Amino acid sequence: MTNINNSNLSILTADAALERLAEGNQSFMAGKMKSPHQNEERRKEIAAGQKPFAAVLGCADSRVPPEIIFDCGLGDLFIVRSAGQVIDRAVLGSLELGVVELGIPLILVLGHSNCGAVKETLEVLEGHAHAHDQIAALVEGIKPAVEAASGKQGDKVDNVVRANVELIVQQLKNTPLLAEALNNGRVKIVGARYDLQTGMVDIIV
Ligand SMILES: [Zn+2]
Repeated sequence: MTNINNSNLSILTADAALERLAEGNQSFMAGKMKSPHQNEERRKEIAAGQKPFAAVLGCADSRVPPEIIFDCGLGDLFIVRSAGQVIDRAVLGSLELGVVELGIPLILVLGHSNCGAVKETLEVLEGHAHAHDQIAALVEGIKPAVEAASGKQGDKVDNVVRANVELIVQQLKNTPLLAEALNNGRVKIVGARYDLQTGMVDIIV
């Protein structure tokens, strides 16, 4: 059991980090949040340097804030968010920075149910329409997941959400710097799905 109120800055192992996220999510789901590391003491403790225990690549969706759904506080999570968790060079560079410079042992790619970016992509592709301006970059980013999920039984949006997480995890694992860290056992990369209704995070890959 990880002591989440531990105030020292030592970093966790990947498995302990995953356990800490699971614990925090349980607290959130049960409505028994401890809201750790959200006080003046913590703010001052980490002002000179950060040692976040996990990186989260999540959706920009206002309903999926990682610090809240994992019951974390200041200095705990290194978070990058874009609609549909779509990766571009800045997103990738941010995650590389987290792993290489900050020594973060875990990257969690977090998709979620009823994702607006996924629904927008399906609408554009199925309507043979064009997305406006830079929204097209999101559609391009999610398109491979639509193709991977085509023909699958079940809820179409959710199938794409899951395929998208799987593909992004794969994409990260194929990135040279992160692949090297993976091979050296310095980082783990996992994918999960957050359910807007229940608040539960499930590891899917
Ligand atoms: Zn979303």
